Amino acid sequence: MSEKKPTGGLYYSLSDEQQQLQQTARDFAKNVIRPVARHHDETGEYPWDVLKKAFDLGLMNTAIPESLGGVGLNVLDATLIGEQLAWGCSGIGTAIEANTLAVAPLLFGAQESILKKYIAPMTEQLMMAAYCVTEPGAGSDVAGIKTTAVKQGDKYILNGQKMWITNGGHAKWYFVLAKTDKDAGHRGMSAFVVEREWPGVVVGKKEWNMGQRASDTRAITFENVEVPAANLIGEEGKGFRLAMAAFDHTRPLVASAAVGVAQAAMDYAVEYAKERKTFGLPIAAHQAVSFMIADMAKDIEAARQLVRLAAFKISNGERNTQFAAYAKAFAADACMRVCTDAVQVFGGMGYSTEMPVEKLMRDAKIFQIYEGTSQIQRLIIAKEIFERSNK
Ligand SMILES: Cc1cc2nc3c(=O)[nH]c(=O)nc-3n(C[C@H](O)[C@H](O)[C@H](O)COP(=O)(O)OP(=O)(O)OC[C@H]3O[C@@H](n4cnc5c(N)ncnc54)[C@H](O)[C@@H]3O)c2cc1C
Repeated sequence: MSEKKPTGGLYYSLSDEQQQLQQTARDFAKNVIRPVARHHDETGEYPWDVLKKAFDLGLMNTAIPESLGGVGLNVLDATLIGEQLAWGCSGIGTAIEANTLAVAPLLFGAQESILKKYIAPMTEQLMMAAYCVTEPGAGSDVAGIKTTAVKQGDKYILNGQKMWITNGGHAKWYFVLAKTDKDAGHRGMSAFVVEREWPGVVVGKKEWNMGQRASDTRAITFENVEVPAANLIGEEGKGFRLAMAAFDHTRPLVASAAVGVAQAAMDYAVEYAKERKTFGLPIAAHQAVSFMIADMAKDIEAARQLVRLAAFKISNGERNTQFAAYAKAFAADACMRVCTDAVQVFGGMGYSTEMPVEKLMRDAKIFQIYEGTSQIQRLIIAKEIFERSNK
């Protein structure tokens, strides 16, 4: 058996600036997001007003570096904001954060001309972008995508359909993964920036989803779209790597949102358990109820610490793929458990749309699905354990 270094240790503490950032996001969630959360859940209206305020306050696009006019916050900073925004409403939080997923692969691999043309303007005015990878026939199995980009002179002809694209209806541009060589598996995939206004880009209707209804998801179809060769990101064949590398940055952020939702559910459950009386006692005095709350608290704290560890690692230049998958799977699964138990603590009232925990339970489910399902996170973890760490 090979000797491996023991792991562990204290990895981070939050600076004064980070605590301030966290407080700013908390105040924003409490004063701006929460008052309108129910309205956007009921109507599915895109939260433009909130987005504008978040943009003005510097809570959006935080990963864009100073060299492109942004604030260049690291992933740990972003997770501190992400948790609080989702505590306010994770549908609105997702609308605020979705740009990060479209921007991340460009920050890794795009040439200066693309960064200047598409990323820099996002720091000057409120502008949305979207990440287009999933298709009707391929979600977890990204290598199975069918969209093609065929080179013709100084352009590519793009054809295919993308599905479940967050911000799809409001994006000005799309990060699109397509096959430039159909026989080369994931090495045959390339990534492009495609503008929404180009002929042949067809935006589908907004999907009416179980939860996170403030967030906009749509199918985006490309019908013989002419994409200038200059909009190829990096080189041909590098698209899959770019699309996947983005997740090391964004999975801790998604996981932080799951923590925020779980925390909100627990806060409501604690409040209710102190007030609601059965058999002459507040239900908090029944051990079966207080143990549910205790389990919520330990799940949430464990998830939060995993999120911060995964975020700290990448913020300090360490490869974090395995930790990002730990954080995403653990936080998503914990969030689902916590929200389901929060509904239980409320009893019949928990099932009513009058109570906030019903919405939180619906909102929670998506964390186990998007940005790689909980099963796919376990595949990644197992792969890291068996194929990488022992080398
Ligand atoms: C609200 C919403 C927003 C989204 N936003 C975006 C976006 O902005 N951009 C984008 O590109 N995509 C987006 N997605 C797509 C999302 O990432 C996919 O839905 C997800 O990756 C799962 O893919 P799928 O739906 O095709 O499920 P499938 O891949 O068909 O999986 C179905 C089930 O099988 C399991 N499964 C599949 N393969 C395996 C395996 N090898 N081992 C074990 N279990 C397996 C899965 O875990 C799942 O439970 C979004 C989805 C939703 C619902």
